[in-house]
Amino acid sequence: MSEQAIETTEMQISDEVAIEITGMHKWYGDFHVLKNINLQVRRGERIVICGPSGSGKSTMIRCINRLEEHQQGSIQVGGIELSNDLKNIDAIRREVGMVFQHFNLFPHLTVLENCTLAPIWVRKMPKREAEEAAMKYLERVKIPDQAKKYPGQLSGGQQQRVAIARSLCMNPEIMLFDEPTSALDPEMISEVLDVMIDLAKSGMTMLCVTHEMGFARKVANRVIFMDGGEIIEENEPEQFFTNPKSDRTKLFLSQIL
Ligand code: ADP
Ligand code: MG
Repeated sequence: MSEQAIETTEMQISDEVAIEITGMHKWYGDFHVLKNINLQVRRGERIVICGPSGSGKSTMIRCINRLEEHQQGSIQVGGIELSNDLKNIDAIRREVGMVFQHFNLFPHLTVLENCTLAPIWVRKMPKREAEEAAMKYLERVKIPDQAKKYPGQLSGGQQQRVAIARSLCMNPEIMLFDEPTSALDPEMISEVLDVMIDLAKSGMTMLCVTHEMGFARKVANRVIFMDGGEIIEENEPEQFFTNPKSDRTKLFLSQIL
């Protein structure tokens, strides 16, 4: 990962709201997993979400593209209300790309086919055009030479970069990352973080669940700490790390730093 902090001037945060979560609750059966979540994300923001295992981080970001359903409160993405209306869900999924801890690539498709599948079948893009676009993104994540290989032939870091390229092929306005480096061997973490830093510089709105606190300091304009299904604290990174307010945040930071 490059050492210097990203110049904040490189990344303009717009006044426009990308995501608005208001009074949102979610239950898994009887288990109250998310409690009164309120979060506004403006276009161009890079938000890092951290917190202990089981605190609801994955569930929260999965609610944003309806991989999980919330039961109370509201979630709006790009001004569209996330409800049971399939048209709305579809429209929101067009806006939002997601990268998972375990890459979730299709093992029986080549890298290039993984990247062109959704553009061709969902967006009805001509194959040639989809392939050209995919190659552009594979270059951006620095693995155009792997296009003809299968995921199993790549390292974990390379597979995760393919997963990022695949998401970008759908031209999302917002990218969600759920612990994208936590399944990787240590030497591969920085090659994935570098791609994410590059994406941040390009102005992408990003919500990243990660415990890579170096990344948070360099890239995030806000860090959110969750515990027990609640947002306990949020602050800009410097304040968050040097002057955490809640005891739970202090305890968490003492365990991971
Ligand atoms: P985190 O990502 O912060 O580790 P999760 O959002 O994955 O936390 O999980 C929050 C809590 O919800 C945990 O206690 C977890 O066991 C529980 N949980 C997650 N997914 C499900 C599910 N599909 N059904 C029931 N409980 C779940
Ligand atoms: Mg998780």
